[in-house]
Amino acid sequence: AKQSGRNRICKFEPQMLLDALARRTLEMDLRLALQRDEFVVHYQPQIDASTGAFQGAEALVRWQHPTKGLVSPADFIPLAEELGLIGTIGQKVLAVACREALSWPSEFTVAVNLSAHQLTEIDLVQKVAAVLSATGLPSSRLELEVTESALLQDTDRTHANLHGIHELGVRVSLDDFGTGYSSLSHLTQFPFDKLKIDQSFVRRLPGDNNSVAIVQAVVGLADKLKMTVTMEGVEREEQRAFAKREGCQGIQGYLVSRPIASHELGELFDPHRVS
Ligand code: C2E
Ligand code: CA
Ligand code: CA
Ligand code: CA
Repeated sequence: AKQSGRNRICKFEPQMLLDALARRTLEMDLRLALQRDEFVVHYQPQIDASTGAFQGAEALVRWQHPTKGLVSPADFIPLAEELGLIGTIGQKVLAVACREALSWPSEFTVAVNLSAHQLTEIDLVQKVAAVLSATGLPSSRLELEVTESALLQDTDRTHANLHGIHELGVRVSLDDFGTGYSSLSHLTQFPFDKLKIDQSFVRRLPGDNNSVAIVQAVVGLADKLKMTVTMEGVEREEQRAFAKREGCQGIQGYLVSRPIASHELGELFDPHRVS
């Protein structure tokens, strides 16, 4: 035990230092990125599973790093959450997404992700209302996505925020459904309009019987609770066919498109448009 204890110190100490250093560098970089406005928003289209018509798109943030190129949100959102920077980043993404959605056909919605931290902000509803009035985007064209784990933070505030947002006429979606600390009581406690079935289930469709059963049950439940269902991470035609057959209203995934810039999305939505 003593031996392995010593080994552990020799082996891990330099790595720990390096990790701490890398983290510190990333932290300074992230703070600079906010000042320099290095965040860009890409959009992934969502289509009607049965007609194939576009419904709108989900806004996904990327960091346009001066030397690293486009950095994925998975590589900086967790640290931004920890450092308390996610509120500022999230607010920026919301404003950009609402502004850019105005250049899309007027029936299309834009979905924006809310972090756990944002859900506990005392003035979240006012902030959302302010962005809508500053951009002029009708509230019915905005959707906000929250994950189940974000619902566990501060129940009273989160509850008030989601109801307040819903009262503005903004739709609320439960993201990554089935992966978090799922509690069916969330479905009635919060005003969800849509369930997004996580790609971890979709990936196994249509071959895996358990995933088939789960998706069928979720669609049935959503239907009874007057919610729509969107399947995420749809990569294959047979998954789209499954979504259609089982009554999922929307699909999103590489089969339709990867996340792209707003102007590219505009061309996809309306190929005849002159831009
Ligand atoms: P998410 O909200 O579940 O977003 C879906 C993720 O799945 C996106 O990854 C998207 O690019 C990816 N994806 C879409 N279709 C497919 C597919 O067919 N196959 C596969 N394998 N993947 C697909 P992305 O853009 O890297 O975002 C990762 C996560 O980062 C998001 O997961 C979301 O939780 C978070 N995120 C992104 N933007 C924001 C933001 O503005 N605010 C907050 N709080 N979180 C964000
Ligand atoms: Ca999402
Ligand atoms: Ca998701
Ligand atoms: Ca996810």
